[in-house]
Amino acid sequence: MQLTRVALSNFRNYAELDLEPAPGLNVFVGQNAQGKSNLLEAIAMLGTGKSFRTNRDIDLVREGLELAVVCGDAQIRAGIVHLGCTIAKNARSTRKTYTINGQGVRYARFLGSIRVVTFVPADLQLVGGPPSLRRALLNIALAQEDRTYYHELARYQKALQQKAAMLRGTVAFDTDLLAIYDHTLVEAGTAVMLARNHFISELKREAERTHAQWTGGAERLEITYAPNVPFEAPTVEAVADAFGRRLRQVAEAERLRRSTLAGPHRDDLGLALDGHPLAAYGSQGQQRTAVLALKVAEYAVMRDRSNEAPLLLLDDVLSELDRERAAAFLAGIGGYAQAFVTATHLPDGLPDAARRFEIARATVRPC
Ligand code: ATP
Ligand code: MG
Repeated sequence: MQLTRVALSNFRNYAELDLEPAPGLNVFVGQNAQGKSNLLEAIAMLGTGKSFRTNRDIDLVREGLELAVVCGDAQIRAGIVHLGCTIAKNARSTRKTYTINGQGVRYARFLGSIRVVTFVPADLQLVGGPPSLRRALLNIALAQEDRTYYHELARYQKALQQKAAMLRGTVAFDTDLLAIYDHTLVEAGTAVMLARNHFISELKREAERTHAQWTGGAERLEITYAPNVPFEAPTVEAVADAFGRRLRQVAEAERLRRSTLAGPHRDDLGLALDGHPLAAYGSQGQQRTAVLALKVAEYAVMRDRSNEAPLLLLDDVLSELDRERAAAFLAGIGGYAQAFVTATHLPDGLPDAARRFEIARATVRPC
């Protein structure tokens, strides 16, 4: 897939922008605080409908104004699609609305119309950082690929919030209602766990293969699904049964501790090197190499699942990597349909065909 046009209005530090990116590699160079990450954030929103750096939509609207718009035209297999996302701020709240070809659509329908894989410096924490980062990688990739996953995850999270409120005492305790929440948690949570299990088996294959190539087979990366609730077999019956049983086991502890204790909201992705946990055992360089392998794998799995290459967005990340790792990463993904790369300086060894732009004070010019 390919983005043929991006237009912004009052998004972050951009007043107006109308840009026609090229197929292949687009490189945006500029000093700090000029609008490089903001542009990538806007492009990513066309895929995921959400910012990759904030949950506060109000931050997306240009200071002092009330309405931000991100639009894009994309060439996808099905034809040309026109995407729009509007963020409107008023005295009390901020509201995001979405359009496809001019028709208002719900978030769930907008999500994944185009697909993006982003790689930002914060991703270098994927190995050493908290499990929530690894779950986010799974959720963002899966939600773009698989509508059912998004729906089940949303259903799970809603029931989880309602249950948490009851356990905290924010709403009155009600045994019948709790049983209903647990029933939804098991149903939706089972779908989430099975989808993660399947996705991780594909991610594992790609990441481990790429990693073995890079290290000449001298080191062995191992990726596993570490579900909070272990299950015997990847079937609806086995997972639902294990989860239901676990919820009954922790029911008393949940009431005492006043919080939810079991379920896929506590899942993790296990990363090991030669049989040792990578975060505790691997050198910084080894951890970085594993992150790159994971990102390459994320890209490959998303491409192969839909038979269409997603957009690749690299925010300032090549400068964080030494030359060899940057080259290995780009070679690893083995050709992208279209990529957007930001940097403070033109990276070395850019292919001649790369389209170069300069960003200064929210103005983008070819250079
Ligand atoms: P760096 O190289 O440091 O990462 P950058 O070019 O990626 O810089 P951006 O993150 O895109 O910089 O931010 C550019 C500017 O946009 C920053 O000065 C930031 O304060 C500003 N900015 C962020 N949100 C808004 C907003 N809602 N309204 C106006 N300006 C904003
Ligand atoms: Mg930046």
